[in-house]
Amino acid sequence: MNPLYAQMGTTIFEAMSARARETGAINLGQGFADGRGPEAVLEAAARALLEKSNQYPPMSGLPELRQAVADHYGRHQGLDLTPEEVIVTSGATEALAASLFALIEPGDEIILFQPLYDAYVPLVRQAGGVPRFVRLEPPHWRIDAAALEAVVTPRTRFLVLNNPLNPAATMCSAAELAMIADFCVAHDLIAICDEVWEHVTFDGARHLPLLGFPGMRERTVKIGSAGKIFALTGFKVGWTCAAPPLARVIARAHQFLTFTTPPNLQWAVAEGLATQDAWVQQARHRFQHGRDRLATGLTDAGLTVLPSAATYFLSVDLAASGVALDDVAFCDRLIDAAGVVAIPISALYAEAPVTSIVRFCFVKDDATLDAAIARIIAAKARLVGA
Ligand code: PMP
Ligand code: GLN
Repeated sequence: MNPLYAQMGTTIFEAMSARARETGAINLGQGFADGRGPEAVLEAAARALLEKSNQYPPMSGLPELRQAVADHYGRHQGLDLTPEEVIVTSGATEALAASLFALIEPGDEIILFQPLYDAYVPLVRQAGGVPRFVRLEPPHWRIDAAALEAVVTPRTRFLVLNNPLNPAATMCSAAELAMIADFCVAHDLIAICDEVWEHVTFDGARHLPLLGFPGMRERTVKIGSAGKIFALTGFKVGWTCAAPPLARVIARAHQFLTFTTPPNLQWAVAEGLATQDAWVQQARHRFQHGRDRLATGLTDAGLTVLPSAATYFLSVDLAASGVALDDVAFCDRLIDAAGVVAIPISALYAEAPVTSIVRFCFVKDDATLDAAIARIIAAKARLVGA
């Protein structure tokens, strides 16, 4: 057995959702939205299932979807991608796997920022890569040049950037991205950019893709996911966008991971990308409303909430809230005493974890958020004690 997997636990997201199912607790852990997503996308998926081919689509994705992704990023982010530069994958997770497996040679070093989406480290290790961690810290989670220079070596080949950042709910500023771009150029690195949260941004902030920065066009793999754009996390339709030499080799890895992705979902996403900008904009407002509702409720409960600029999540700072428990103990207590599930951020560090931050998902209807807040307020005395 491969010790990488034999010694690994179940992902924190699945483990916490299982506890919600077992206990009947309100699940503000794993990131998924209440609601059905855009009706037009669901109808397009159903129609395509009944009326179009359900045989293998082209390995790199339906031409219509590859074109729709390229057009979408032209319209929203000013990028000049061609359809040939887009490879459709089964979710962003497969896009990450295909990119890392295709590009990493054993012994290559990869810069990863912690906290991180939990798939990164096992995928890098399975590919034979050596992670070099940059530790980000609350409350600002900022990336600085000195931290990057401290971990880079002559063996470093890649940098994985998740922007907007799950679980911190931050977005890189233009200055930070320019600094990261300069760093990648100076050290001849390829950037693998997990941008699945690019459309889930608040307060009018606009996402800037690293691929658009000087020197990055030929050395960036940009990863997206329809699951996040349309709040349809079960769709698992994602993609990579990268210059042809990178796209070609990523497609080689993809062809032996999943080969392809269900064609009806690809049709539906192509249609959604072309027609659902208004839905995406409205969803942003709805989610921002949920963010503000949960932040107000948790603040009323006496907890210190960190700002959330993007993603489905906000965080509570336990130390700043005067809570004497660490994040894992707090999440256990939250289930037992309040019947609410959240995510301990320490689970998203591979080493030297921050243990004072707990993540809550706010893309739920008002009644669910209000019920969770009421439960937390009612259980407050048991939550803050040692
Ligand atoms: N990357 C990040 C940062 C994520 O938060 C997620 C899922 N929430 C993914 C990748 C996976 O996306 P998908 O479901 O499309 O595989
Ligand atoms: N990325 C999602 C989250 O942060 C979970 C994805 C998963 O469960 N694999 O909640």
